[in-house]
Amino acid sequence: MSELRYLFNPDSIAVVGVSQNPSKVGSVIYQRLMKNKSQGILKAEVYPVNPNIRSINGVKVYSSISEIPDDVDLVVIAIPAAAVPNIVREAGENRAKVAVIISGGFAESGRIDLDEQLRKAIRETGIRVVGPNTIGVSDPYSGVDTFFLPRFKQLSNGKIAESLPEISPGNIAVISQSGALSEVIMDCLKVSGIGVRAIVCVGNQVDLTVEDFLRYFSNDPLTEVIAIYLEGVKDGRKFLNALIQASISKKVVILKAGKTDVAGRAAYTHTASMVGSIEVYRGAFKQAGVVEVEDMEEMVDVVKALSMMKTAKGNRLFILTNAGGLAVLSSDLAPHYGLTIPNIPEELMKKLEELKNQKIIDPIVFLQNPLDLTAQGTSQTFEEVFRVVASSGIYDLYLIMPSHQPPSVDDTVIDRLFNVYREYDCSLVVCEHGESEWSKYIRERFDQLGIPSYPDVRRALRALSALATYRKPRNRIFEKPWETNRISWLYNLGDGPLKFEDGVKILNHYGLETPKSLTVLNEEELRNVIEELSFPLVMKIYSTKIAHKSDIGGVIVGLKTQNDLIEAYKMLRKKVVDLNVEWEGVVIQEMVKGVELILGSSHDAVFGPTIMFGIGGIFTEVLRDFSVRIAPIDHDDAYEMINELKMKKILEGFRNLQPVNIEKLAETISKFSKILWENPSIRQLEINPLIASGDRFIAVDIRGTISKNKDNR
Ligand code: ADP
Ligand code: MG
Repeated sequence: MSELRYLFNPDSIAVVGVSQNPSKVGSVIYQRLMKNKSQGILKAEVYPVNPNIRSINGVKVYSSISEIPDDVDLVVIAIPAAAVPNIVREAGENRAKVAVIISGGFAESGRIDLDEQLRKAIRETGIRVVGPNTIGVSDPYSGVDTFFLPRFKQLSNGKIAESLPEISPGNIAVISQSGALSEVIMDCLKVSGIGVRAIVCVGNQVDLTVEDFLRYFSNDPLTEVIAIYLEGVKDGRKFLNALIQASISKKVVILKAGKTDVAGRAAYTHTASMVGSIEVYRGAFKQAGVVEVEDMEEMVDVVKALSMMKTAKGNRLFILTNAGGLAVLSSDLAPHYGLTIPNIPEELMKKLEELKNQKIIDPIVFLQNPLDLTAQGTSQTFEEVFRVVASSGIYDLYLIMPSHQPPSVDDTVIDRLFNVYREYDCSLVVCEHGESEWSKYIRERFDQLGIPSYPDVRRALRALSALATYRKPRNRIFEKPWETNRISWLYNLGDGPLKFEDGVKILNHYGLETPKSLTVLNEEELRNVIEELSFPLVMKIYSTKIAHKSDIGGVIVGLKTQNDLIEAYKMLRKKVVDLNVEWEGVVIQEMVKGVELILGSSHDAVFGPTIMFGIGGIFTEVLRDFSVRIAPIDHDDAYEMINELKMKKILEGFRNLQPVNIEKLAETISKFSKILWENPSIRQLEINPLIASGDRFIAVDIRGTISKNKDNR
């Protein structure tokens, strides 16, 4: 990916599409580059190109790239789409390394042919392309900037107002799949006092993709955090692998848009109805150690914290303030962000009491966490208390809210807290509410000192939460699924719904347990049952046509006698006759006791085989307590999936249920996760319920679909 070096640090740039009209895109870009050059930020030579004009402001305009005497590294193209492929070819033939195509009017407008021509030019000349249909890049270090929107615009009252702020150099690299969003991000980062390594907008990605930029910034010494606005990718595994590598060297934060295509539709399996594309992306983000944010505000807040402050080992938070209300508010909210506020242990309590004896802490202060110093607290009190608590090393994180309003607090509190912070190198976030001059000043100064500050308790806690939970991912590669079935007899099966007994065979092949069952076609065969199975039993309609048997009363549990069996059989037989579906018999199983779980696996269009695990049974879709990952998973993934369940407590032994062996459960989940990945003919596979009790995990209901023909998938 060394070509990208020429995008961010070219020695020479050609701008194709400058014109006499200064408000044309090509001209705006040219002028901006020239301005950066005159300010000494941009070192590269800049050559304007347009075959129809000779000069602009006395500067020679070249009629083509070939006419430029110098070798051109970077070509910025802002001309009508139809002419672009030829210009790219010419640039490539003249040894240009990278082209940024600003022009739109390609595949996004239905001109797939132009994309084809573009790809051909790229293939044949080896040039790399950003875009088309992009605003390109803005790099405050090298001054390469193709963002063509005006920095200032006139209001109708005549006033000239800033419309797009100038970004300052920093350590956050932004990759965006939306041009408009890139500008919003620029603005928001600026307002929060955050500098940027570079912003890249990928456009249509005919050549360079999000993954390429991820790789570039992963190896870029100026980058600390990579922030991505993501709509979607084509090759999920390639993306996931690039994300993992990026997260190992940098911190990655993603705002994922397009969340409403969530499943929720009626489907053959519960998995298919519950797991939509966003759930799959989320699973991948977790496997890649990515922090996912919900909106722009959170993006900026989290990026700020991660780029400035060191991450914490745990979630034990100490809160220090002089505003009682903020103490209460923050302790109410902290648990929502996964933070705990442990009590002050005895050792530390003694030291704080000493401060009280020395009158540094006011006698009326009640010593606890959150610690409210009251309006009596001075800047010195903040410093001394913070020092004593930080030196104890008991807490992982600190939230300090030195409200400036009381007369006892002055602005020396900033440097006082900073000194302690530096001494103990802790994870600290500051919250200062309000928009008064003082409030803004305090926040700005903390930010400048490298301590992230926020104007709201909730936002400060969210930032702390990111610092507490951030973890590097495990280094691994997600391979593409197998091309041929590991279980060869799968080729003998017909396409369509999987038969129960085939499901049993598949699961057993992978070491998963199924209950003792018998399929019975007629009343005579019922007699064999007592010899083979022991009461209590369950009888279910056996049919590949009925997706959810209990919905139609097709499952009867708790059969204790031969008589019960005959009764149940008659009832189910009548149901099938009434429903007018083909009679395929009934399945009789031994009854299993335990917690009902669900294990599902399906092919995602982007990521391939995925796995979901959660609370199962007939209410699974109502409870929606499940987690998703890209398959296959390892033991640690399985553990994390189990821990994600809101109801994981019921696995620890609940009422008359035995506690579940979590180690064995994790093993079962990871075994199951290999099935689709190793057998491409299985398109969906689901166990619901998987009945868990102690060391045993029994798949009492199996559903799945088979499609052997690749083209039908
Ligand atoms: P379906 O999902 O098609 O309605 P299931 O086979 O999953 O049919 O049965 C529905 C419910 O019946 C299960 O969620 C479980 O509560 C109960 N059940 C089914 N088979 C057994 C079994 N072998 N042991 C205990 N309970 C069972
Ligand atoms: Mg079921």
